[in-house]
Amino acid sequence: MEYDLAIIGGGIAGLSLAHGAVQRGWRTVLFEAEPRLGGALHTCRQEGFWLELGAHTLFNSYGTILGLMDAVGLTGKVVRRRPLAFRLWSDEGEASIAARLRYPELLRHVWRAPLLRRADHSAMEYFGALVGPRNFAEVVGPALDAVICQPARDFPADVLFQRKPRRKRVPRSFVLPGGMTTLTETLAAAPGLEALPGQPVTRLACSGSGFGVFTAQGDWRADRIALAIPPQQAAALLVDVRPGLSEQLSHIGVSRVESLGVVVRARDVHLRPVAGLIGRGQPFYSMVSRDVVPGGEWRGFTFHFRPGALGHEDKLAVAARVLGTSSTRFGHVALAGHVLPTLRKGHARLRGRLDALLARSPVLLTGNYFDGVSIEACASRSMAALYRNHD
Ligand SMILES: Cc1cc2nc3c(=O)[nH]c(=O)nc-3n(C[C@H](O)[C@H](O)[C@H](O)COP(=O)(O)OP(=O)(O)OC[C@H]3O[C@@H](n4cnc5c(N)ncnc54)[C@H](O)[C@@H]3O)c2cc1C
Repeated sequence: MEYDLAIIGGGIAGLSLAHGAVQRGWRTVLFEAEPRLGGALHTCRQEGFWLELGAHTLFNSYGTILGLMDAVGLTGKVVRRRPLAFRLWSDEGEASIAARLRYPELLRHVWRAPLLRRADHSAMEYFGALVGPRNFAEVVGPALDAVICQPARDFPADVLFQRKPRRKRVPRSFVLPGGMTTLTETLAAAPGLEALPGQPVTRLACSGSGFGVFTAQGDWRADRIALAIPPQQAAALLVDVRPGLSEQLSHIGVSRVESLGVVVRARDVHLRPVAGLIGRGQPFYSMVSRDVVPGGEWRGFTFHFRPGALGHEDKLAVAARVLGTSSTRFGHVALAGHVLPTLRKGHARLRGRLDALLARSPVLLTGNYFDGVSIEACASRSMAALYRNHD
């Protein structure tokens, strides 16, 4: 069968693009390498309890995502997160962020805020100037590392924390019943979309005015292709059909995060209820807790470890120490690996070069390496790519 659009990648970028394409009446097929759709939206479900191994929070500033949720009937089902805090965790133990800030240094720097520009500055240059170098090294830097699951110092400052209008009738931060996977499952089940999990695309070729898409199970033909996969993998697939795009994409690095989720009986955990912990000088960037949505007798925690820092047994030992329990008490353990782009200063220029190469092209590119790494940035990029191609 011939398709109007073949999408490679079944994370939120690919699935939101698929939703938009089907709405426009395009015959759409989506290929996902893993047996599970969703990519970094990755909920582990176990005996009625769920835990996020990847993304964990949605916000009422996520306008594109809320638009998709309206369309598939999820907006009325959102679950407000309990207002718990993220705290710092270091070798000295747990502390609030406020307790670790150096206020004299903060006051010497923060007055400059109106003079500081984010564009063309790294996170360390911008936030370091805003809060002072020691506050950056000891508090703000680790917090940013935790947000983007990688060392943040060289990340472009203007990609972090962009202000967007909020939809006031929706809670400021929320989750979905059954976790994030509820969103990707619902999008994938939309009538008209052919989603093919467990089918990694291994090669692309030009075919007439369109493209041939090849997997181990067969080959497909489509007028347009969309790549919604990490930039390095997109570069490899495009090398024969769009060498210029492939070359530009090869400049964007990726960073891996190794996640360990543990589910424990509440009575066996000593850590007080928290939204999560920011690791300072630790083998993990962050620990994200399920305490924001209480789960009866169970509590759940996902530790996002630096890649290659520890083996499995050592990760379990770290998790047990932080939670104040023994790993023999863990009722369930789950593992996941995800990649995130390592964007760098000057990214806006690289993005401009990519968009120039994509103008009037039957190739669409989407993902978390354009406007930011958030779920919203992925979905809004997908809609922008679709509108540009459609017009
Ligand atoms: C631990 C973690 C926590 C996060 N927390 C939040 C949060 O709370 N809120 C928020 O807004 N954002 C969060 N993010 C960021 C956000 O979740 C991601 O940036 C976003 O989900 C990425 O979506 P994507 O579709 O671009 O890529 P991915 O989710 O990586 O999906 C790409 C998909 O492409 C598939 N693929 C790759 N190669 C091929 C191929 N050859 N053929 C077919 N398929 C292929 C992969 O298997 C994958 O499923 C978090 C990210 C991580 C890792």
